[in-house]
Amino acid sequence: MSPSSRRGFFRELAASVVAPGAEEHAVSGQLSDAAVERYSRQLVLPEWGEAAQVALAEASVLVIGAGALGAPVALYLAGAGVGRLGVVDDDAVELSNLHRQLLHFTPDLGAPKAESAAAKLRFLNPEVLVDAYRVRLDDGNAGTLVAGHDVVVDCSDSFATRYAVCAACCAAGVPFVEGGVLGLAGLVMSVRPGRSACYRCVFPSAPDDAPRCADAGVLGPAAGVIGSLQALEALKLLTGVAPPITDGFLQLDLATADVLRVHAERRSDCPDCGED
Ligand SMILES: [Zn+2]
Repeated sequence: MSPSSRRGFFRELAASVVAPGAEEHAVSGQLSDAAVERYSRQLVLPEWGEAAQVALAEASVLVIGAGALGAPVALYLAGAGVGRLGVVDDDAVELSNLHRQLLHFTPDLGAPKAESAAAKLRFLNPEVLVDAYRVRLDDGNAGTLVAGHDVVVDCSDSFATRYAVCAACCAAGVPFVEGGVLGLAGLVMSVRPGRSACYRCVFPSAPDDAPRCADAGVLGPAAGVIGSLQALEALKLLTGVAPPITDGFLQLDLATADVLRVHAERRSDCPDCGED
């Protein structure tokens, strides 16, 4: 099949899959031929369609951390066609990162992770504008970094960063996705500030003795599962393609394959999102 007839085939295919009563899913020409082909496998999803694709192209997402979670998040969001991606990381690529941080390769050792990640994401999808921020997000700069984004995905590995992200996103009204992984277990949750329980509503304070990845270890695919779920949550928040995991979190034990949906409610006295 020639490239032009292949484009026509995918446009026809995408346009033909129109759910009853959902004519907006037809491809009406807002997308270029190349975009129709690039995104054809998601465009044919009855839950997705052109409206979701256009919404994604106009969206801006900030990914905090370009490590084990940030790599799958940024790769899937760039692949899916998010219009603008910011990547925040102040670390350099180390040899001990490479077993799980899929955006960085052996020749990248010593390079800034934000730049290493941005280079791969631009290779994957040149349509996406990628901004590399070589800074560590903290209470002082969180507000400036999250401002103007449609969704923030926190892929950091510290409780201090998570609380800084939560406070900044709640103050700015920016939906965000939290995630964490350690060993063979992890959790994922989405937050719509003012509408669903925030991270601090669910976890009012950090545990005193939380182990770190460097001490407790983590397997690459376990991080990949959690990061992939975070990417999926971001797509849900951006397009409404499916309900995100809000008012609580999803806890996954990947050793036993036990999945637990833990429900939680907003706290009126929450310092980040409370109304008191
Ligand atoms: Zn809260």
